Formats: sequence, structure tokens, C-alpha cells
Amino acid sequence: MARTDAIVLGAGIVGTSIALHLVKRGMSVALVDRAAIGEQTSYGNAGIIEGNTVFPPTFPSDPATLVRILFKQSSIANYQLSFLPKVAPWLLKFRSASRTGRLIEFAHLIRPLYASAVTEHEKLMAESGATQYLRKTGWLKVYRSARSFAALKPEFDLAAEFGLPLQRLDVTGAQELEPSLKPAFSHAVFWPEAASLSNPYAVTCAYAARFAALGGVVVNGDALTLHRSGQGWRVETNEGGIDAPAVVLALGPWAPDMLAKLGLRFPMAVKRGYHRQFRAEGNASLARPVLDADFGYCITPMEMGIRMTTGAEFAARDAPPTPVQFDRIMPRARKLFPLGDRADDKTWLGSRPCFPDSRPIIGRAPGHPGLWLAIGHAHWGLTLGPATGRMIAEMMAGEPPFCDPAPYRAERFL
Ligand SMILES: Cc1cc2nc3c(=O)[nH]c(=O)nc-3n(C[C@H](O)[C@H](O)[C@H](O)COP(=O)(O)OP(=O)(O)OC[C@H]3O[C@@H](n4cnc5c(N)ncnc54)[C@H](O)[C@@H]3O)c2cc1C
Repeated sequence: MARTDAIVLGAGIVGTSIALHLVKRGMSVALVDRAAIGEQTSYGNAGIIEGNTVFPPTFPSDPATLVRILFKQSSIANYQLSFLPKVAPWLLKFRSASRTGRLIEFAHLIRPLYASAVTEHEKLMAESGATQYLRKTGWLKVYRSARSFAALKPEFDLAAEFGLPLQRLDVTGAQELEPSLKPAFSHAVFWPEAASLSNPYAVTCAYAARFAALGGVVVNGDALTLHRSGQGWRVETNEGGIDAPAVVLALGPWAPDMLAKLGLRFPMAVKRGYHRQFRAEGNASLARPVLDADFGYCITPMEMGIRMTTGAEFAARDAPPTPVQFDRIMPRARKLFPLGDRADDKTWLGSRPCFPDSRPIIGRAPGHPGLWLAIGHAHWGLTLGPATGRMIAEMMAGEPPFCDPAPYRAERFL
């Protein structure tokens, strides 16, 4: 029977970053996953490290957009009809959290954590030999209607208050940054301080390799075997049971399976999302991620091609894939950028683990001594992995956390 100081359950970007931060503090740590490192949600995202986040993605306030979604005419969101009654209570909470006052509150609460996102990645990348995947070329968002651009005013005001630089651009200004974009839009916003990765999976693997080099142990096992053992916890793995006084649950969209066993219920839903990868036609190229805001998809240059990621799909996490959003996106996307043939042969599906207030839970699990939670990173788990890792490791090691953990406490849902 192995004994460690801490067990981290889940080896996505969040769990791997936590494990690395713990081992850097001199703890013996087992990182447990039933699959290989970084191969789930953290594998197929859009690769954006978005420390500039002001408002999270919101419930549509425009009735016309809502009607288009309801009639399955919108590429912004899709849903599986049979799942709607199940997710309806969550959607109502999400709609309530999307009111302007709540969004402004969100922006103030989350700023300290998001502000550290890029630098925390840079530090881990430097020691993990992963800096070559980092691109500090910002994020370009394009808007096809004057109306959607005008709706950004509250975000611009807050960005100014927080000192976040941005440039409002017309088509020519956007094309100076991205010459291959076609003039299918009327306005653009360039966020120069956003960063992106050319291979998010490789970065998680590099952090895991660094963790192992510092003495951490990666083990195959099922988190659902976690149980109390004396004063601590035990998880059964392919290499036998592992005991530890502290456990971190970082299971991404699978967290509710474990939480239910522990009698903990938090309002987590998944916003499923897909990706497909394409070659660029001719000499066309992209230097940074581009969001086509009115149609809710993103294109990011990756080592594997131009990765197109979709917006939200509301369906059960394990329901069969229904990638219908691509049918709606493709004609529009080809008018924005010269996408060529597919560079992959299958469509990737992932599930963003989301709480209705768009804030993760990072901290102690109520009523379960020694159990810590790092879950619900929603649209920005790649962004926040290393910052979350540092904050939770500091708390577990008894150090003062570098930013106030109060906005991320689980108790807000109890
Ligand atoms: C289409 C799409 C685009 C996105 N784009 C971005 C972006 O540009 N920037 C950004 O910051 N974020 C983005 N995200 C969100 C981001 O990918 C997630 O928030 C993040 O990957 C969550 O990481 P995680 O470590 O919590 O979860 P995961 O990566 O899913 O890791 C959880 C781990 O737990 C393991 N596990 C589950 N159950 C068990 C069990 N019973 N036993 C053992 N192990 C188990 C899994 O195998 C997995 O390895 C995007 C998401 C999607 C779907």
C-alpha cells in the first residue's frame, strides 16, 4: 500500500497543474487518471489563454437570437430536445447570472485570478520546456452586425477600468493583423494581451513530464474508488491502493459522478463543444485565434491545422455526438477565411464543465476534511489551470493564497 502526501484525481490541465504545484512544494503526490494524461476536455479546446476575460459567455438577451436557437437555426448554440427538461433549472440560473449587474459583479470577482493566467502558464512552461507552444499574439474577435458590436460597451468600460488594453478596428485594421480574412464583418476588437497555444495537449503532457521529473507519480486508476480510510483517503489504482491525508478532485465534467457518491450536489451542467481541423487554402494563414462572434465559433491556428471550435451544445455529457452546428457554420466560415480540406478524419467532442455563475469551485469540499475541489472551469479551464494549481497548492501547503479564494468557495451553492 503506497502512502503519499496528496492524491490528485484527474490529469487534465487543471489536475496536472495542481499536481505540479504540489510537488514543487516538496509534497509526495500521486496523479491518478483512468485514461492517459490530457486526452479529454483539455485535449481539443481552442487553445486560448484568455486572461482578459471580462464577461463570460452569457444567456442570449436578444429574443431574435433565442428564437433562432429554439428553431435550431443558430450556430451559436444547439440542444438535444429530450435533455431540455433536465437542464432547464440550470438554464434559468444561468440566465439570471447573465444580467448586466451580475456580470459586472463576476468581472470584479474573477479579475485577480484571470490577471495571473498568462504569467502562471509562462512560469510552468519555462520549467517544463513548453515555451515553444506559446503564442503571445493576442485574440481577434470579429462582429458582423453593428448591433452586436454596440452591445460590447459595458465590457469596454470595465476593460478600461481594469486597464486591459484593446483596439477597436474596422475591416482594414483587422486585415492588417490577419491579411487572409475576407471582409465578411463590419467591426473587430483586438485583445493584444491574450495568448494562445499551438498544441494544448502537448502543454499538459509537458507539465506532467515536469511533475514526474520532480518525483511525482502518474498512476492509472478509477477515481470513483475513492473512500475514507482512517483519518485520510484511499483510492484503488492499477498499482494498488494509495493512501493520503489530502485529495484533490479535478475530474472536469466527470466531477458530478464522484460528488454524488460523496453526497455533494452542485449545479454543474456541461456545454458540449466540437472541433474539426482544416488546411488553409493556398497561402492563407492565421497568426492568432479569431472569434466570429455573431456565429459563435472560433478558428485557431494549431500545429495540426486550423482548428474550428463550436459554441455550446446542451445535451447529456455521454449522449452520442450531434455535430450539426458545423452545417450552419461552414458556409459562413468560408466567407470569412479560406478554409480548405479537412486536416483530420473525425470530429472531436468535449464537455465544458460549467456552473451557472461561470466561476469554478476551487477550495475545500464542505463536510469532507482533507478533500479539495478544483472543478467547473467552464470555457476557461486551459486559461486557469496553472493559476488554479498555484492557488490550491498554496492553500493545501498552509501558505497564503496569491489571490482571494472567497469567490471560488463551494459554499456559495449550499
Ligand atoms: C470546444 C471547446 C473549446 C474550448 N476552448 C477553450 C479555450 O480556448 N481556452 C480555455 O481556457 N478553455 C477552453 N475550453 C475549456 C477547457 O478545455 C476546459 O475548461 C478544461 O479542459 C477543463 O480541464 P479539466 O482538467 O478540468 O478537465 P479534463 O481535461 O476533462 O480532465 C479531467 C480528467 O479526469 C479524468 N477522469 C474522469 N473521470 C475519472 C474517473 N472516474 N477516474 C479517473 N479519472 C477520471 C479524465 O480522464 C480527464 O483526464 C474549451 C472547451 C471546449 C469543449
